[in-house]
Amino acid sequence: MRRTLLVVIAPIVLVGAYYVPRPAGESAAQTAPTSAAASAFDGAKAFEHLRQMVAIGPRPAGSPALKQTRAYIAKQIESYGLKVEEQPFTGATPKGPIDMINLIVRIPGKRPEKILITGHYDTKLMPNQTFVGASDGASSAAFLIEMARVLKSQPQHEFTYELVWFDGEEAVIEWDQDKDSTYGSRYYVAAAQKAAAIKALKAMILIDMVGDRDLQIRRDSNSTPWLNDIVWDAAKRVGHAANFPDFGTSVEDDHLAFVKAGVPSIDIIDLDYPQWHTPQDDLSHVSARSLQIVGDVVVAALPEIEKKLR
Ligand SMILES: [Zn+2]
Repeated sequence: MRRTLLVVIAPIVLVGAYYVPRPAGESAAQTAPTSAAASAFDGAKAFEHLRQMVAIGPRPAGSPALKQTRAYIAKQIESYGLKVEEQPFTGATPKGPIDMINLIVRIPGKRPEKILITGHYDTKLMPNQTFVGASDGASSAAFLIEMARVLKSQPQHEFTYELVWFDGEEAVIEWDQDKDSTYGSRYYVAAAQKAAAIKALKAMILIDMVGDRDLQIRRDSNSTPWLNDIVWDAAKRVGHAANFPDFGTSVEDDHLAFVKAGVPSIDIIDLDYPQWHTPQDDLSHVSARSLQIVGDVVVAALPEIEKKLR
């Protein structure tokens, strides 16, 4: 992903939040998630998945290591009684065609319309460097594995959930949003458009780089405002406002293909990470606690997102 410009928005006066009117007859207690639901996401489990993927080593698109990563993800998903579907395609990269595979896990809801929770599982190709992508790649892929377990263990949702691990998020040479980067998400959207299935995609939540020990997630201006509002409100409700400051930024990432196709989308990303795209993006700079925080916030936000889409 790439940050396009830094928009610094003055912090919202916090007391203002208390004056946000609620719909008639709805109390704060009714909209707050139970603590049991919020803690259903296990940051320690997610961190173990992250650790296992980092142990595989660098995992660029088309590599045997990425194939090994797919096998790891599939093994975990199958242990929850879910199935992994492969979506193969060829990425037309500046280095020539590369075979890539998106992974898709579906958790059927009462309706066929979908809410997507997505991330990427490839790591940036860094010639002559050992880049294991603990936050940039592994945190995202690990988060989705744990989220699959959580969603499967919850009572059936109104909407169908689809977890998608995108291949080829990283540029093969240099980031170009339309030419060299986000191969998997661009392919997914093109395939959905071809199948006239884009209207069934009600919302897309992108989780990227959420491992940072010093977790600071900013509102991305390319994301859909109502999704940002729901996620930032959820962060306040579950006590993680400090990790979701009211500051803005602008990020190019796997959500943009969906935004362009008219699918409400949000990128939950911590790009304030000095180790980004360096060999220091390793286990010592990520934490289970950060995965837990993002897990708690997303789990708390999902019922509100479903309510908005009903
Ligand atoms: Zn990256």
